[in-house]
Amino acid sequence: MVDHSELQVPGYEIPPEMQGQVVITTLDRIYNWGRRSSLWPMMFGLACCAIEMIAVQAPRFDLARFGMEVMRPSPRQSDVMIVAGTVTKKMVPAVVRLYNQMPEPKYVVAMGACASSGGPFKAGYNVVAGIDKFIPVDVYIPGCPPTPEALIYGMMKLQEKIDKQSIRQVRWYQKGPDSVQIPVPILGSDLIDPRRAEELKRIAAAQAQAQEG
Ligand code: SF4
Repeated sequence: MVDHSELQVPGYEIPPEMQGQVVITTLDRIYNWGRRSSLWPMMFGLACCAIEMIAVQAPRFDLARFGMEVMRPSPRQSDVMIVAGTVTKKMVPAVVRLYNQMPEPKYVVAMGACASSGGPFKAGYNVVAGIDKFIPVDVYIPGCPPTPEALIYGMMKLQEKIDKQSIRQVRWYQKGPDSVQIPVPILGSDLIDPRRAEELKRIAAAQAQAQEG
């Protein structure tokens, strides 16, 4: 059931006999409304926060009210990645690869303290201090774990963000590559971010020089 009032732009009066049948809107508003009302989250979870994410899809909460009930088991059919759980260094290459495989427009929600900042494992040798070190995050949801209501609120914030976008400025209609591609980190004895390769070389050279001196 379409709520016409969401599409109507202010400043235009619709005669009473035509209300509910005719709306006057803008291209941006209908474009954003279409995307924000049918976000398909990717079906994957990393740790305990994922249990709350699963609860959001169950009958008590039910993301279907937002058109988000279709959790896709493929990144190629997903609009939004909910990073739900602790991001270990071992998982980062897989998460970045999945992000790269999502078509535009794509959004990322960091669900919980772990995905946002490392959470209780921030100082752990095997955990990264937030997925935003590797992929761009649109919405952060605090909590350990966030409640299902908090996730719903986060998704509503994402909808608000989408509402503010303009078809003239969104990155996927600009010149250049069709989709944001992040260099996939390399997992060796530690996690190496290829974007920091030059910086790491400089640090290693400085350390070697200090040892020689
Ligand atoms: S934020 Fe808390 S509940 Fe969520 S994955 Fe981390 S430890 Fe688990």
